[in-house]
Amino acid sequence: MQSRRNLLLTAFLAASLLVCGATYQLALRRALADQQGQGAAQLQIVALDLESILQKYETLPFALGFQADVRQVLADPGDAAAVDRLNRAFKIIQQQSRAVHIFMLDAGGMTLASSNWDEEFSFVGRDFGFRPYFREAIQGRAGRFYGIGNISSEPGYFIAQPIYRRPDQAPSTPSAPPIGVVVVKVDLAEFEHTWRSSEAPIALTDGGGVVFLSNRQQWKYHSLDQLSGTQQRELEGTHQYADLPITPVAALPATLREGFGPHVARPVTQLGWQLRLFPSQARMMRSATLATLAAALCMLALGISLLAWYQHRSRMQERRQSRAALQRAALELDQKIALRTQELTAANQAIAARFEKLQQTESLLRTTQNELVQAGKLAMLGQMAAGVTHELNQPLAAIRAFADNSVKFLARGQTEQVAENLEHISSASANMGKIIGQLKGFARKSGGQVAQVELPHAIEAAVLLLARDIEQQGATVTREVRHCAHILGDAVRIEQVLVNLLRNALDAVEEAPVKQVRVLLDIEHGQAVLRIRDSGGGISDEVAPHLFEPFFTTKAGSRGLGLGLAISSSIVQAMNGQLSAHNHEQGGAEFVLRLPLLQAPGP
Ligand code: ADP
Repeated sequence: MQSRRNLLLTAFLAASLLVCGATYQLALRRALADQQGQGAAQLQIVALDLESILQKYETLPFALGFQADVRQVLADPGDAAAVDRLNRAFKIIQQQSRAVHIFMLDAGGMTLASSNWDEEFSFVGRDFGFRPYFREAIQGRAGRFYGIGNISSEPGYFIAQPIYRRPDQAPSTPSAPPIGVVVVKVDLAEFEHTWRSSEAPIALTDGGGVVFLSNRQQWKYHSLDQLSGTQQRELEGTHQYADLPITPVAALPATLREGFGPHVARPVTQLGWQLRLFPSQARMMRSATLATLAAALCMLALGISLLAWYQHRSRMQERRQSRAALQRAALELDQKIALRTQELTAANQAIAARFEKLQQTESLLRTTQNELVQAGKLAMLGQMAAGVTHELNQPLAAIRAFADNSVKFLARGQTEQVAENLEHISSASANMGKIIGQLKGFARKSGGQVAQVELPHAIEAAVLLLARDIEQQGATVTREVRHCAHILGDAVRIEQVLVNLLRNALDAVEEAPVKQVRVLLDIEHGQAVLRIRDSGGGISDEVAPHLFEPFFTTKAGSRGLGLGLAISSSIVQAMNGQLSAHNHEQGGAEFVLRLPLLQAPGP
């Protein structure tokens, strides 16, 4: 991005330089063309001006040829009076016409009369036969010439006209050559002054390209080009420029030839003169520089506009990109949200399905539990029925046997045996009554009132009921009440459970060296916990699985019916409690009774 920008900047700078360079060249060319156009116009004015000045004097020598004394003096140069009159007339006319000099030459080029006859450098008696204007005029043509006077050393324009013997003779009649020549010298310095205001150099050159009038004084009497040998010799012959060495302007020192170069030229007069104007190069360069500056400013404005446009475009592009990125991000977010929503919905559905399954499982569990309870009850009932049948069958069979025997003994009259059998029958039926009594206790759901039961009192009541047995056995029953726990239940049934557990403990310690039973009441995990631990032999692995089964007993004879723990467990379960048993780590069995608390326990 950066390098591209640098490349563009470099290209733009190069283009700007090219444009400026081209503008400079074009403007220079244009300025040159303008200057040339203006110069040509200016030259036209100058040329007209010059030609009108020269025209003014053109006819003066011709008119002077008609002076009364002209022919007299030419006929008799020794006529001093005539010469004097002519000299004075020439002076007056010279002063009036503002010519520099007016003088007359004879056919040999000798000056016979002159307007400066009375001055130091009088022309009178001077020979100007070598001058081209004389040579032209004596051949019957008007002589025109610009040169530096070899007497006065002043430059001037010479106009010469031939004089014929007869004033009315037509010029250039071959039969009668001119007898003399009248010459008027005009000063063009005043005309030259009018060029001073021009910034551009103006030069008037002769047919040979020698500058003789110019607003650059240092160029005067220097040629535009190197003069040829012929031209040099010609100048020497005519003394046109007082034998000054004519060198090219281009050979002058740089400061002196300043402004010399391409120019516009216009011919003036029929003498091969050329008016030349050198357009001001400084001005051309100024206007070219101004045009270049304008171009540079335009390029700068263009550059700034391009930069602004480029920045605007980059900003727009960045904005577009960020908008697109935002849209992409929003789209991605939408997609993610949709995906997450889908996942969540799926998870929700899965949870709902699982919840439903759980509910189904729970209800199934409940059903199963109920069924199990029911099955358990039925199983227990079956067991009990089997037990009852078994327990009752024996005495019943004995009773029948004794009764049958009694009938036989009666028939034989053996009354003593009958009485003995009846005693056996009575004992067996008592035994049966005992079993039925026990079963009644088991079958009866609740005989007493459900009320608040203070467990410490229940413990004391149970211990009191067994006080005789304890004493007979020589056992000790210690009680420890860590928390006075209250429960809701039937106090008689609770005592029945406690009596069962304590009796079993006493049975267990009967043969033990130490006969110790410990009762501990506490509260654990918001439940009343009653532990009855004995110092007996503990519960063997064979016995443990059948502890709470009805009619399971290890006790011999009529000492045990095997219903105590089964009934106790049933009572405790009816109170939402739990009865469990295990061997204590320090020996002996420990039965744990857990019951829900009624209220916050006292200490
Ligand atoms: P029973 O006392 O008539 O035998 P139980 O249901 O009360 O009937 O007891 C069943 C059996 O549990 C007992 O025969 C005995 O083997 C065992 N048992 C009960 N309590 C204890 C105990 N404290 N120590 C060891 N065994 C016990």
